[in-house]
Amino acid sequence: MAPKHHPTPLSGGDRKALKKELSRARAVTTILAQRAAEKRAAGEALIREADNLSCQSWNERMWSDGGPVDPSPSIDQAINGGYSWLEIRCSRCKTPRAVDLAALPHVATTCIHDLVGRLRCEECRKAGKRPAAELLQLWQRCPVGDPP
Ligand SMILES: [Zn+2]
Repeated sequence: MAPKHHPTPLSGGDRKALKKELSRARAVTTILAQRAAEKRAAGEALIREADNLSCQSWNERMWSDGGPVDPSPSIDQAINGGYSWLEIRCSRCKTPRAVDLAALPHVATTCIHDLVGRLRCEECRKAGKRPAAELLQLWQRCPVGDPP
């Protein structure tokens, strides 16, 4: 891209003022971009903190009263908040399972509570049943054994 042309003012004072104004604008470009990056990073840190707190809040409700599961954080919020594992249990045979949320195909709007009807127990499926999953807790690490 060709540099922008500023018509040269006739008066020497105006030429000096234009030169000063151009160097001010060029200097402030970088400063403003740096400030934008800092504000964005601070905002993202706050969102991460809010997502983390939403997960903690949901965990406390599930632990104390076992529900309701809705409202719940979205899968993306849980992952962003550091809680990328979901502990579930089959409502029929009670088999526990840990689900890696990051490995789960999902759209951005999918919430944790939407998984009740989607996470099926393998054992019960073999027996021709389709019981819902009981959602227990969100975890920062795999809660059942070692992750694969
Ligand atoms: Zn089962």
